Amino acid sequence: TVRSSFVVVANRLPVDEVSTPEGRQWRRSPGGLVTALHPVLAEHKGTWVGWAGGTGAAPEPFDLEGIRLHPVPLSAEELERYYEGQSNATIWPLYHDAVETPVYKRRWRETYRLVNARFAEAAADVAAEGATVWVQDYQLQLVPAMLRELRPDLRIGFFLHIPFPPIELFMQMPFRTEILRGLLGADLVGFQQRLAAQNFVRLARHLLGLRYEGQMIQVDGRRVKAGAFPISIDTREMERMAADPAVQARAKEIREELGNPRTIILGVDRLDYTKGIELRLKAFRELLADGKLTVPDAVMVQVATPSRERVEHYQALRVKVEREVGRINGEFGRVGVPAVHYLHQSYSRSELAAMYVAADVMMVTPLRDGMNLVAKEYVASRTDQGGALVLSEFAGAATELRQAFLCNPHDPDAVKDALLRAVHVEKPEARRRMRTMQRHLRTNDVGHWAKSFLTELGVPEAEAA
Ligand code: UDP
Repeated sequence: TVRSSFVVVANRLPVDEVSTPEGRQWRRSPGGLVTALHPVLAEHKGTWVGWAGGTGAAPEPFDLEGIRLHPVPLSAEELERYYEGQSNATIWPLYHDAVETPVYKRRWRETYRLVNARFAEAAADVAAEGATVWVQDYQLQLVPAMLRELRPDLRIGFFLHIPFPPIELFMQMPFRTEILRGLLGADLVGFQQRLAAQNFVRLARHLLGLRYEGQMIQVDGRRVKAGAFPISIDTREMERMAADPAVQARAKEIREELGNPRTIILGVDRLDYTKGIELRLKAFRELLADGKLTVPDAVMVQVATPSRERVEHYQALRVKVEREVGRINGEFGRVGVPAVHYLHQSYSRSELAAMYVAADVMMVTPLRDGMNLVAKEYVASRTDQGGALVLSEFAGAATELRQAFLCNPHDPDAVKDALLRAVHVEKPEARRRMRTMQRHLRTNDVGHWAKSFLTELGVPEAEAA
């Protein structure tokens, strides 16, 4: 095996398999994480350990655009128990304030443990002596401790992309001590928010009686640091894409296709119960019923990308959202003029950019969200400094995007009020708000995120990358 001094471990490899005339090939996927980490990975001849998609035997390790990719296999049963079960039906809802009831199953946890061990072993195999390993996200929380056990020489970082819950919620989890111990295997545990980092250090004291000072926890004679590192987007890339003449033309076309309404209200989310899609639709319906908004002056476009379709919570959500869309269109639409354009589809980044540019008001109203990159993408895409963002206080992005129209998504009147204020905001004020948020995103982009984390972890070269 090729050994690397820098290793990323994530559930998914940053590649998609595509079929071409020459047969099946791997292509780099467009995610923000790989964009941010690519320079560091390329610099260090880094390796990325992760699942390649598909079940059964994994492909052999291979190189793509200067990164070594090391696939980890998952069987169909493991995928169901570790990924759909423990990760997405237990941990995901619990960490998002239990907005849906978490499901606890012994065999899911057992498989989660087994799969985490496989990822840890793979990382141990590919890491050079004294290497830095950066483990990503909630699917792999046991990996840091497992990896330390195998390879005490490594420097280990962990970043949680989703929220970390308050103690009272975390304490529900049947194998809570094991998860906490798993995370404490890292030297640095990064979170999106300062509050999440605080939840973590307090939990370490509460559950294990560990001492901490500030964000530094003492464990087994080692020091584990917790910290907030809000993730971001490739801001320049988003600006370039949005300013592209083809994207601008497509944005115009979208407005025309919608009948040139005065106000286009846009939502873009995975179809997930944390995203507050229903409450957003309900706010829109009530404003139509109150006569505060009218069709076709105002129309809503809701992209709800298919997600985790085999998990029960998600099937139930789809039914509820689609019923609400039907209700609104039934009551307020006309022949050829629906009030809500509902799109249960996945879009390319450039088509999304065109939608952002076309939208007068973007609604991002999650009940809880680690960050929410869509909110940041919308702001960055408005190179014309037009548009207005309605943003839930419960999205990580709200800590940074203070000039959005912030609202409490649990309060329907607050959502309606924020939406109306965004619809009616005067142009100069809207521009001021956009400009301030854009300035923030220029400095605080995803490269800055990766560099801050790695510098804190003590990777000296991170400064240069
Ligand atoms: N996205 C996409 N196509 C779609 C819908 C979303 O490429 O049809 C992208 C979107 O641009 C964003 C990401 O998916 O970069 C969603 O990230 P976010 O943090 O908003 O939410 P998550 O889905 O990670 O919970």
